[in-house]
Amino acid sequence: PSYTKADIKQIVQDEQVEFIRVTFTDVLGAIKNVEVPVSQLDKVLDNDLMFDGSSIEGFVRINESDMYLYPDLSTFMIFPWATDEHGGKVARLIADVYSKDRTPFKGDPRIALKDAVARAEAEGFTAFNVGTEPEFFLFKLDEKGEPTMELNDHGNYFDLAPLDRGENVRREIVLTLEKMGFEVEAAHHEVAAGQHEVDFKYSDAVDMADKIQTFKLVVKTIARKNGYYATFMPKPVSGINGSGMHTNMSLFDKDGNVFDGHDADKNLGLSDTAMHFLGGVLKHAPALTALANPTVNSYKRLTPGFEAPVYVAWSASNRSPMVRVPASRGLATRLELRSVDPTTNPYTVLAAILSAGLDGIDNKLEPSAHVDKNIYLMDENERKKAGIVNLPDTLLAALDELANDDVVIDAIGTHITDKFIEAKKIEYTSYRQFVSQWELDNYFMNY
Ligand code: ADP
Ligand code: MG
Ligand code: MG
Repeated sequence: PSYTKADIKQIVQDEQVEFIRVTFTDVLGAIKNVEVPVSQLDKVLDNDLMFDGSSIEGFVRINESDMYLYPDLSTFMIFPWATDEHGGKVARLIADVYSKDRTPFKGDPRIALKDAVARAEAEGFTAFNVGTEPEFFLFKLDEKGEPTMELNDHGNYFDLAPLDRGENVRREIVLTLEKMGFEVEAAHHEVAAGQHEVDFKYSDAVDMADKIQTFKLVVKTIARKNGYYATFMPKPVSGINGSGMHTNMSLFDKDGNVFDGHDADKNLGLSDTAMHFLGGVLKHAPALTALANPTVNSYKRLTPGFEAPVYVAWSASNRSPMVRVPASRGLATRLELRSVDPTTNPYTVLAAILSAGLDGIDNKLEPSAHVDKNIYLMDENERKKAGIVNLPDTLLAALDELANDDVVIDAIGTHITDKFIEAKKIEYTSYRQFVSQWELDNYFMNY
């Protein structure tokens, strides 16, 4: 909703809000916030709230640590749950980060996404619309409130209670999201035990990225209230499906959905623009993987046999490739990128996907032919003939792809790219130094 400063002051007074939480997202995708008592509201609304950016992941050095938060007034909302012990109300505003000299900060992922959207607008598009399908697992909490590795149920895809014990939690999540302005389209039990999915209606990319961050907060909060721990880790349990966040997207202009080709017999009903966008996404897929799948654990999901993609390919009929073209046409004509997982930073990944697609449009890139066979049943030769390449299979390989892709680097800027790669290489090295149970099981007795 569009609020003025005066609207917000009025609501804060009428609802007796006690605290204002001003949030932003760091380079690695974590939500951060500065919370102030309501007496500081004017300062917040006047873009005068300062914080020390030097301790935020991927932000700045100690000697330039003063930063400003510029709240986006349209993101104002009061959390529908009590946030302190005496039940006082807390409101939030999502902010852009500005430097001390009051210029937009190059390390702010939300600003990077806004810049990418502005480039699309300059090419005549009115919106980059995105709808995501985030999945998560619910684990039981123990008596001390610590998460256990025990899943909340033994349910299966689209199961009903009593098998699906997550039903009540899921309903409460849906109702809470609706109170917060989400249009929830569907919520169901997923394929794995303890795994759930909630889908909400597509929106322009910045709003969707904001919603993804809010969504995670809601899921974690409501799960805990019900005695569960929610995790968006892509593969918490080996041997069963992991959690993805399929990302549906389309470009709109003043006449509607530009991806719709209006001719079912040509390109599966996709427009030339959609084909070129797809060509760009396929071309840049290896580098996009570093952002879409940014954790060591992400690559344990991207393995054959669990409905997650492993190859750079696209299809209309088949769910094994990286990009699927869902059957709906008209306003719902879209591309579904299936590799993305919920550990992604939604701002940087959407900036990068959009820029990859625009590169395809600008340079009229043609996608490879669509693959309608099950790719997992093709051998390496068949895949080679069909022009199908592998997605990077480790975080390190994906980071190397990112470091060599100027379109994706431009999309998020060199500040974010450098800080991201630096932090992720440290993460990878730390992982590599750890000796796992698998290694002990396989090597200890054999050597
Ligand atoms: P499926 O089951 O085929 O994977 P869903 O019906 O669950 O897909 O919908 C997935 C998402 O696609 C939803 O978030 C929906 O709002 C979104 N969506 C629908 N039309 C568009 C569009 N034109 N652009 C982007 N996202 C869209
Ligand atoms: Mg799903
Ligand atoms: Mg899907």
